[in-house]
Amino acid sequence: MAKTPETEHPNKAFGWAARDKSGVLSPFHFSRRENGENDVTVKILYCGVCHTDLHTVKNDWGFSYYPVVPGHEIVGIATKVGKNVTKFKEGDRVGVGVITGSCQSCESCDQDLENYCPQMSFTYNAIGSDGTKNYGGYSETIVVDQRFVLRFPEGLPSDAGAPLLCAGITVYSPMKYYGMTEPGKHLGVAGLGGLGHVAVKIAKAFGLKVTVISTSSNKEDEAINRLGADSFLVSSDPRKMKAALGTMDYIIDTVSAVHALYPLLGLLKVNGKLITLGLPEKPLELPIFPLVLGRKMVGGSDVGGMKETQEMLDFCAKHNITADIELIKMDEINSAMERLAKSDVRYRFVIDVANSLSPP
Ligand code: NAP
Ligand code: ZN
Repeated sequence: MAKTPETEHPNKAFGWAARDKSGVLSPFHFSRRENGENDVTVKILYCGVCHTDLHTVKNDWGFSYYPVVPGHEIVGIATKVGKNVTKFKEGDRVGVGVITGSCQSCESCDQDLENYCPQMSFTYNAIGSDGTKNYGGYSETIVVDQRFVLRFPEGLPSDAGAPLLCAGITVYSPMKYYGMTEPGKHLGVAGLGGLGHVAVKIAKAFGLKVTVISTSSNKEDEAINRLGADSFLVSSDPRKMKAALGTMDYIIDTVSAVHALYPLLGLLKVNGKLITLGLPEKPLELPIFPLVLGRKMVGGSDVGGMKETQEMLDFCAKHNITADIELIKMDEINSAMERLAKSDVRYRFVIDVANSLSPP
């Protein structure tokens, strides 16, 4: 008999999955592999809800492979470790992020850039190294090779710390790589959602001047008084946008939908850098004139390697940086996804997995 998700591995598992592009999630029985020599089995406590989860359950990018159990901002407790596992022991609090596999021998892997390995595998909607499908963190447990498991620093709370495992590293890595950490320089953060609000906090810890560029005028007070931004621009306000022309050294663009780059490029100084992190479902138009005339650049970045992810967690623990979260129960996920689609979240949903996920 052909193996089903429920029978392909020895250990029964339970989570919530989307079955088609309606994106609606519902209870799902599947299985997890036996804990191997290099593996850590994690009992999941909390899992953040990234916009990538929403893009994937809705098949925005055309490569969703159902059923999809999303979730790649996972904090939990190690309940089993393989005999070669040196980094963790049972009972440790650990994190799992966006990637759970890579070849471990290519140039990228050798440079701790597993995220750019050609054989990198994502935590969900991907095939793992054993040839079976990966299911993510909207579930009770996960089994992960120790290389892709993070030590979760003591000072970080499990719930509000969980979003750092994707949102945190996704904004931290380009800040480091593109040299966007010089105190006093001016950073624009476009899109104040999960990634954007963590970008504001990390940028302030680096000593940058931060301006949020948002479509939502109702986020201004929070952006400044709660998140610590220095100023706030509503992108639909032509007067304010004009006054800010040529004032920013860098911009981090976290917008999840198709949008115009032209107004953002105008905000940059000569030699300014626009780093795009959002993954809209269609390509963006690239205006060449402002790039050429101002020697500006546009770049991208994909999460971060495991070493840098650990560095980011330690940095956030040291600077008391966590996400602002709305804690939800597993069965509230569908309405949370609807709100996320409308940019109506302050600023990350996190699922209280351990206290709200139980098989029917
Ligand atoms: P999110 O919480 O939904 O935030 C996205 C923000 O974009 C919204 O809060 C909104 O901010 C703004 N926005 C949404 N629609 C817009 C539109 N039509 N025009 C202008 N602005 C709009 O999403 P997230 O979890 O931060 O993820 C953001 C994007 O990054 C997603 O596409 C996700 O897939 C991608 N991502 C990439 C990586 C990577 O490694 N590169 C990692 C994680 C996520 P305002 O209300 O302030 O306008
Ligand atoms: Zn994510």
